[in-house]
Amino acid sequence: MSKIEDFLSTEEEQDIIEAIRDAEKNTSGEIRIHIEKASKIDAINRAMEVFHFLKMDNTKLQNGVLIYVAVEDKTFVIYGDKGINDVVSNDFWDHTKDVMQSHFKTGNFKQGLIEGVLKAGTALETYFPWEHNDTDELSNEISKD
Ligand code: CA
Ligand code: CA
Repeated sequence: MSKIEDFLSTEEEQDIIEAIRDAEKNTSGEIRIHIEKASKIDAINRAMEVFHFLKMDNTKLQNGVLIYVAVEDKTFVIYGDKGINDVVSNDFWDHTKDVMQSHFKTGNFKQGLIEGVLKAGTALETYFPWEHNDTDELSNEISKD
């Protein structure tokens, strides 16, 4: 995989968006995925930049989670806002990354991303259950650069 267009098929992308939509049915938290070719800067710093660019730092409860993927760099980052990072255990995102990585290694990017969404969703659901007045604060579409 090198080209961003080859990373996920349209169908796979729809399945992932569906997983985000389902996960967000149980939590007020917001999950987004951003995919780009390569990062010019350190992936974690770039993830923080994208987080801000996508206005993910504007959620009411600071419970947005971004999965950032740089396809050519073969790297990805899970970046959670303060609200969620303060409550999950330190190794939670590392564990989630490991699970995703095991799928990525075999080229199953769709499954890796879905597992990441599900794990983030479970954590968000525990600490930020869905509320009746919940809104979809951030689009579920996968953003690309
Ligand atoms: Ca929401
Ligand atoms: Ca959303």
